[in-house]
Amino acid sequence: MLIQLIYRSRSHFTWKSQELQALGAESAARNQQQHIFGLLLYDGEYFMQVLEGEAAVVDALYARIAADTRHTDVVLLLRDPIPQTHFNQWHVGTLDMRDGLLLNSSARWRHWCATLGMQADQGHRAVRFVEAFVRGRWRDPVPAVAWFSDSPQPPTPPTSSAAVLPLVAQRPQDWLATQPRWAAGPGSQGGHAHRAHFALQPIVHTRDVRISSVEALLRGPQGESPQSVLAAVPPEAVHRFDLYSKADAIALAAALKLDCTLSVNLLPMSLVSHADAVDFLVAQCQRHHWPLHRLMVEVTEEEAITHIDAFRQAVQRLRASGIQVAIDDFGAGHAGLSLLAEFQPDTLKLDKRIIQGVHASGPRQAIVRSVIEFCFCLGITVVAEGVEGPEEWQWLHAAGVRRFQGYWFARPGFQCVPPVSWPTVLQAQATGTGF
Ligand code: C2E
Ligand code: MN
Ligand code: MN
Repeated sequence: MLIQLIYRSRSHFTWKSQELQALGAESAARNQQQHIFGLLLYDGEYFMQVLEGEAAVVDALYARIAADTRHTDVVLLLRDPIPQTHFNQWHVGTLDMRDGLLLNSSARWRHWCATLGMQADQGHRAVRFVEAFVRGRWRDPVPAVAWFSDSPQPPTPPTSSAAVLPLVAQRPQDWLATQPRWAAGPGSQGGHAHRAHFALQPIVHTRDVRISSVEALLRGPQGESPQSVLAAVPPEAVHRFDLYSKADAIALAAALKLDCTLSVNLLPMSLVSHADAVDFLVAQCQRHHWPLHRLMVEVTEEEAITHIDAFRQAVQRLRASGIQVAIDDFGAGHAGLSLLAEFQPDTLKLDKRIIQGVHASGPRQAIVRSVIEFCFCLGITVVAEGVEGPEEWQWLHAAGVRRFQGYWFARPGFQCVPPVSWPTVLQAQATGTGF
């Protein structure tokens, strides 16, 4: 199978014109043997390269290129099958964009494409990527990898708030059972009428080096997953259980004396199947002296879309009460943009499938950048979920994201707020010894 692969990277040093030509000649000789064709652009700092050839050969070459220490920030922009190669006249032609390559008019651009053997209006993806590059895209001011390459420090001892926990964990009463108003009807209480447990995961603000919010994730008494807890509840009681369990999340956050926002997850139907659902949340906040503006309800994009009218009503009521609204797992569903056209939440949480590998994936970068842009315009706070390593955080931070949730900073802690593993570079900032 023939494929086309495009990447961009940033050179560690400035190549002189002759050095670049030598590099081109060296790779052309190698590519000729392997029947690889393509184009290498260099602007004095960044490279963009198009490679076309047999999949296995191109992939192997890309793996070697990605490991080459002469450049960094290697980002895969495209890898797709093609019916035929487009650059057959070159076993990688090298173009030094410093050679007075002024492409500021479409006539010049067309002329330039023609000299390359590309048809400017043919619509090849490669041509468009090259055009984007020539017109200044794909040059992110991402700081050098070495700057952030240190891993987080090992966890520090639990903070004092965790010490309050046993009191909460040993609360004897069965919450639903003691509150008949909320309890399920006769015979349907079953095994679900217990106090709900939560794992708390910090969401960190890495410019201010603080925990900006804590998400309460439903757990069974032994730490079982939210799915298994909800599956054990009779179907007709799921929404009621989902809603009422939040009283325990609020109680827990209040008992831990958290001074940040508490995020809770709810199915949209949990909010609308009871007319007084929002009143219930408000009452629980008042009971525990939890300020309403420090409660945030997270609803997944998928669920919000499938229950659009219900979601619309729920958002109105939450807004009216002062409770914040977040769209969770943005980008995982199928209709996120049309949802956003209708409702603008306070916070948008980018799904981990978009975040993971963002530092090396052109499509993810382009998507995330546009999300950051429209959230900026609309006053929506962006949270990146599922940050598992320093590279993702580094790229996202450089792109302007400030709030992060992920194992790299802190895993969820059962009934407690676990300590955050701040990257060393931020610890230095926190103690005022410079960034
Ligand atoms: P979510 O709201 O998107 O919560 C984040 C999930 O990602 C959590 O899984 C968390 O443990 C996990 N996570 C956090 N950081 C990382 C990371 O760096 N890498 C990876 N791979 N995962 C990470 P969890 O606790 O299993 O929850 C799964 C989902 O269950 C939640 O996704 C949420 O949609 C739902 N859920 C949780 N609590 C409730 C609840 O009280 N009610 C309802 N209706 N749904 C809930
Ligand atoms: Mn969530
Ligand atoms: Mn999520």
